[in-house]
Amino acid sequence: MLEKTGKISEVREKVREWKKQGLTVGLVPTMGYLHEGHASLVDKAVSMCDRVVVSDFVNPTQFGPNEDLESYPRDFAHDCELLEAHGASLVFHPEVEEMYEEDAATFVEIQNDMPRQLCGQTRPIHFRGVCTVVSKLFNIVTPDYAFFGQKDAQQLAIIRKMVRDMSYGIEIVGCPIVREEDGLAKSSRNTYLSPEERQAALCLWRAVRLGEKLVAEGVTSAKEVLAQMTAEIEKEPLAKIDYVSAVSNHDMMPVDEIKEDTLVAMAVYIGKTRLIDNFII
Ligand code: AMP
Repeated sequence: MLEKTGKISEVREKVREWKKQGLTVGLVPTMGYLHEGHASLVDKAVSMCDRVVVSDFVNPTQFGPNEDLESYPRDFAHDCELLEAHGASLVFHPEVEEMYEEDAATFVEIQNDMPRQLCGQTRPIHFRGVCTVVSKLFNIVTPDYAFFGQKDAQQLAIIRKMVRDMSYGIEIVGCPIVREEDGLAKSSRNTYLSPEERQAALCLWRAVRLGEKLVAEGVTSAKEVLAQMTAEIEKEPLAKIDYVSAVSNHDMMPVDEIKEDTLVAMAVYIGKTRLIDNFII
């Protein structure tokens, strides 16, 4: 039975009860409008933990001034149905005021180039917001494990770094990208796409497949692989590339040679919608 609360104190109380019984706790942070990508994280968490808390919160501090905070899709009733069906124990669905007091002024920020690479180039405050809210969720839920998708590869690497740097005693579990049948990575933002844009969005998947094929064939030059992937995306008239990059999956710094632990990642605008995708060697 899924329990629901918007109160930090109630989450703490519940988790305290569970821990008293010796139960392990998993956390799956989300922004809601849940789909099978989120569900795969919940499934993984349920398989590894006695109790699973899912946070469902559109976090304002990770959105820039001209981004889609207001229009971000929301459907809490549907989210609860999905979470119940996948065996989550508790959904934490706070109001903004519950998470951020009016005079909140403390942020968690990685102060090297990691959050400035890739998505950080066009979203300069994004990862500061992510680290701050995830850090708060870690303090509220005190989970043993926390689950994040490889879809947001930079976010996953940044959370791993934050956990190391801040000595959180939490094991971070990365989960593979879940795709639509035709290959498009599942995303709450796919709902913004018109039917024509939805077709156009497949250029990201085509680029991923092309990149993976080139690497499998033995091409190791990042320049070569990225050029061919870029050309593939540019064939699509509705697509506008934000970046296509090859970086170390450890610190997000650009690499010349594609080898083990290289992350090849992209962000592409399809009309006004910004989509991301990636693969890791
Ligand atoms: P979001 O609600 O978009 O902030 O995502 C919440 C979590 O779900 C993040 O850890 C994402 O990486 C993960 N996630 C979102 N979409 C997918 C997907 N298609 N496959 C796997 N994980 C995903």
